[in-house]
Amino acid sequence: MIIVDRIREMQVLMHQCRREGKTIGFVPTMGYLHEGHAALIDRAREENDMVVVSIFVNPLQFGPNEDFARYPRDFARDRHIAEQRGVDVLFHPEAGEMYPGPLTVQAVVKARTDVLCGRSRPGHFDGVATVLIKLFHIVMPDRAYFGMKDAQQVAVVDGLIRDFNFPIELVPVPTVREDDGLAKSSRNVYLSPQERKEAPALYQALQAAAAAVEDGERSADAIRHLVKEHIEAHTHAEIDYVEVCSYPDLTPLETLHGTVLVAVAVRFASARLIDNVILRLPKAPRQEE
Ligand code: AMP
Repeated sequence: MIIVDRIREMQVLMHQCRREGKTIGFVPTMGYLHEGHAALIDRAREENDMVVVSIFVNPLQFGPNEDFARYPRDFARDRHIAEQRGVDVLFHPEAGEMYPGPLTVQAVVKARTDVLCGRSRPGHFDGVATVLIKLFHIVMPDRAYFGMKDAQQVAVVDGLIRDFNFPIELVPVPTVREDDGLAKSSRNVYLSPQERKEAPALYQALQAAAAAVEDGERSADAIRHLVKEHIEAHTHAEIDYVEVCSYPDLTPLETLHGTVLVAVAVRFASARLIDNVILRLPKAPRQEE
């Protein structure tokens, strides 16, 4: 595995791979790798000649009161995991390499951000889009792999790739969970033992919502209510949002139809957690003129 921390070196290496006709699969991460990241890497390994993983805790996507400084970092461990998974190139730039000075141009995400995490974390997706534009230009991948745990991020990246004509195939990968249903996340290390016990309630609540929809429930209000009640009954967490919207457009729904995202975010004392499920329902009948 080659480890690169300079942009120029990365660009030379990637140009060389492309000249040799190799396909490149790219997995952008913030490190502290776990089985969720590994699923993305494995999928990239299956589908490409070269697998590139980036590890970069992007300051631009953290708000002033968020966890940038204490975000978990362990490069030695990440390097070992990446090597074991068969990663070819690990790109690990310093913040000063990615942002040597103030930006003259920055991405502003215009849609799919007035709901969910976009609403609770103003500027977050602008930071995500800005770093991805840089990383896509540096790595020039054929395919980029993103986890559905961050469903809104997948929707935003889908828009970014289309709007800016990146010749990149977006590959969404299903959420990897602990045995008790908790979505794997680098932030799970923040949880106290009691919070860790309560945290699977998020997925249980989403599953209860899926079961209700399976039984014929079509009211978004009823689904939101059911999810909130379950989380309130089983955790001490403060609910940030429970939302029901179309996917990938992320338009809030009153009546469920088509591809639906039910998403939740909660704040425990030590960590903010998110989770979601996608439900596939028949499309709404077209309104008569
Ligand atoms: P992060 O390092 O948290 O920025 O995540 C890097 C990538 O891994 C993103 O595309 C995430 O959506 C994805 N990811 C994180 N956790 C999981 C998970 N539990 N299952 C699948 N993908 C995940």
